[in-house]
Amino acid sequence: MGDVISIDGPAGAGKSSTARKVAQELGFLYVDTGAMYRAVTLAAIRNNIDVQNADQVTQMASKLKIRFKKIDGEYHTFLDGEDVSREIRSSEVADLVSPVSAIAGVRKVLVDQQRKMAQDHDVVMEGRDIGTNVFPDAEYKFFITADVEVRAQRRMKDYQKNGQALNQEKIVEELKKRDKIDSSREHAPLKKPDGAFVVDTTDLDFDEQVQIIVNKVKQ
Ligand code: C5P
Repeated sequence: MGDVISIDGPAGAGKSSTARKVAQELGFLYVDTGAMYRAVTLAAIRNNIDVQNADQVTQMASKLKIRFKKIDGEYHTFLDGEDVSREIRSSEVADLVSPVSAIAGVRKVLVDQQRKMAQDHDVVMEGRDIGTNVFPDAEYKFFITADVEVRAQRRMKDYQKNGQALNQEKIVEELKKRDKIDSSREHAPLKKPDGAFVVDTTDLDFDEQVQIIVNKVKQ
């Protein structure tokens, strides 16, 4: 079993970009667990499966092959061999990912895979339940957060990069809705893990966020 750095927090707080850079600086593997829940959601949409049908979604999830590959320095997500990195960032997937992630069976399938990923590697794993549920004994735990308006501005830039134009109000609504479902669900809800170091990124720039975490780990 390798060392684990867990990074949890609400949507758009800057977890992914920060976790990627921290992993690069420390030479750890980076795992974006949100991308895994998004890939399951995309597969459900494509197969016309009702996301309220927990059994059907779980059965489908257990057959999917979700993989990550680093190509030209960028992390790509593959679903059954197809690069879906762009599609999993669509607003259609964002709208349905929280109900899909609330399904206990889906979580079990993905958490098993996440634990296996850390068996032979040091990992920076990022998500909602990494320090509370996937690796409650992680060596280093972080909880990254920021004001919702700031998070919405950052998410708007991500959508723009992805070629989707959404207004900020709609994004604030999406984030609030997702945070509410993620924090109040029965299985592995989003919350600050015991012993996690909190990083509020509202007034921090990217390099500052990365350095706070890297310094804390090196200490
Ligand atoms: O991190 P990202 O915003 O891509 O995550 C998408 C969704 O996946 C979250 O809103 C949450 O519903 C779900 N998720 C989760 N547990 C994780 C990571 C993500 O439930 N560990």
